[in-house]
Amino acid sequence: MDSFFSGQWLGTSDWARWTAVIGLLALLAGLVFLAWWALFADRAKGRRRCPRCWYDLAYTPGRTCPECGHTGRSEKEFSRTRRRWGLAILAMLAGSLVGGFIIDRAKYEGWMSYLPNTMLVWLLPVGGDANGLVISELDARMSSHGLSDEQWLDLLRRAVKGDFAARPGTEEWADKYGRIIDRWDDDLLGREDEEFRSQVFELLMSLPPQVELSTREVWPEDIGPTLNVAARHWWPRPDQMRLTATPSIRGVPGVEPDVHVLLDGPIQRRGYSVHLPPLEQGGYDLPITLKLERRSQSGERWQLAMQRQVEVSFDVTQRLDDMLEAVTDDDLDQAIRDVFANSGLVKYQRGGSLPVRVGLDPRPTYVEAFDGTAVGVRIEVQRNGQPGRMLDIWWHGGAGRFNRQHAWEVPFLDDEVLGAPDEEGDRWTLRIRGLPQLALRVRGVSKYWAGEVEVPTFIRRQRGSAGSRGWIPADDPVAQAAEPVEEAPPEPAEAG
Ligand SMILES: [Zn+2]
Repeated sequence: MDSFFSGQWLGTSDWARWTAVIGLLALLAGLVFLAWWALFADRAKGRRRCPRCWYDLAYTPGRTCPECGHTGRSEKEFSRTRRRWGLAILAMLAGSLVGGFIIDRAKYEGWMSYLPNTMLVWLLPVGGDANGLVISELDARMSSHGLSDEQWLDLLRRAVKGDFAARPGTEEWADKYGRIIDRWDDDLLGREDEEFRSQVFELLMSLPPQVELSTREVWPEDIGPTLNVAARHWWPRPDQMRLTATPSIRGVPGVEPDVHVLLDGPIQRRGYSVHLPPLEQGGYDLPITLKLERRSQSGERWQLAMQRQVEVSFDVTQRLDDMLEAVTDDDLDQAIRDVFANSGLVKYQRGGSLPVRVGLDPRPTYVEAFDGTAVGVRIEVQRNGQPGRMLDIWWHGGAGRFNRQHAWEVPFLDDEVLGAPDEEGDRWTLRIRGLPQLALRVRGVSKYWAGEVEVPTFIRRQRGSAGSRGWIPADDPVAQAAEPVEEAPPEPAEAG
């Protein structure tokens, strides 16, 4: 039964689907008409007929039929409608079978399964969000490779336009259309047909990126607010991006634009932070100009991909001490040591940028002693007492079940200290400090760990080279090295 309902018999082409759907509806309509005809079509209309054999008695006097001998009891009997019960029952049985099949199939496959691809693509804008019926049905068609090239292009054109509830560049768009592209772009760009490939490429390249700025609602006046920047795109290439965020704060002149680059994909949802100077008390609707550039590889010139202004709103009230309580004691400090004690450092033997990565296990802070407490720590990795890198990381401590997603950043690194070959007697130490500006990144807390601990640690060697670092500041040495080499002025041609 499963395969009968699976839709394969309907065919996968629009033509086959239309034919099957129209055929089914025509069959149902025909059977309904047949039942009606059998029961109601053959009325007497003034004719006088024998109610048993339907012989015409127009010129026969009396109530006895000369054909079959039936004798009627009243004159009314001779003007009855002729009803063909056998045929009617057959037609109704067949009709309910066909109707039941149509409904049953809809139950298994959804009503949308009756619509051809072209109509589904056409219905996308009004077909609900990412969980809507139209998207679900299209997902199934795509998975069974049921869309023709032209339908794929129609779908991508629709994605480029978006719709009223899912405008390009928004979270809604990413959920509804971006998800399809995330899943299928490799497949489409890997097709044999070069013409098709290049059309897909052009359409994807014209998709706007999604850049989102967020921040906490309230900041203290003694710590500069931090804006979280997250960006993603659906371009097949380029692989590199540069994002410039220029805040303009009334009364605070000379706020530098923040520039970050992403050199090694894949692009991550985890973004980065833009730091503002401490601000006076008041409400802020901060206009920020965002400029996103792209290129396909290091050394190329950046191409403008998007420029727009967004607004980020927050309040600056009171002081840090009034917002978060600083807590520390021996038990809390020991728990923080335990977070880092057993994981050690991972050192990539083939280098790469940031070749030493910090391991941790935050579970020792998932206890009642950390309820309502943010752990926002800056970790300094020291090699023989010399700072090699830092790691900022923050999360929500405490027992219970809640979103424990943590985030991190690298405010400082020195690959020369970290990447130098291992030596006998190398001493590795982590210096860990709780910082309020990091704790403020965690939502829903009233306290933060404000201690400082040192943890001796060890190196675990890992083959290969260190992976993607995500977004890095444009003045990072790695980012600088990827910039185009300034062209030397052409040599004057030698005369003679
Ligand atoms: Zn008769």
